[in-house]
Amino acid sequence: MNCTACGKEIYPGSRFCSNCGQAVVAQPFQPVKSRLYRPRNGRMIAGVCAGFSQAYGWDIVPVRILLAVFVFLGCGTPILAYIIAWIVMPDEPYFIPAQPYTHPVAQPAPPSSQQPST
Ligand SMILES: [Zn+2]
Repeated sequence: MNCTACGKEIYPGSRFCSNCGQAVVAQPFQPVKSRLYRPRNGRMIAGVCAGFSQAYGWDIVPVRILLAVFVFLGCGTPILAYIIAWIVMPDEPYFIPAQPYTHPVAQPAPPSSQQPST
């Protein structure tokens, strides 16, 4: 999806355009959490576990423990599934994390002396 104001691509889940600050209109047919990709940070091997845990809101630690248990019990089949997921899941797209738009002009520092509230 692209920004309605400047046309720049907006990362799914962002509430504001990272380029111009335009508020993003919510699109109900584009669920944010279901996007599956391998994050660039927090990978242990290829980021498959991290991708699943991020996409579905799971904790990363039990996902990795479960995979390790499955690898131990499955005698190689989970490793094959992991490699398939590695191939199928795309890399995380580069994006600027959604954050409040700050104007590039230097802002005056707020006064440090606070008035006593009486
Ligand atoms: Zn924009």
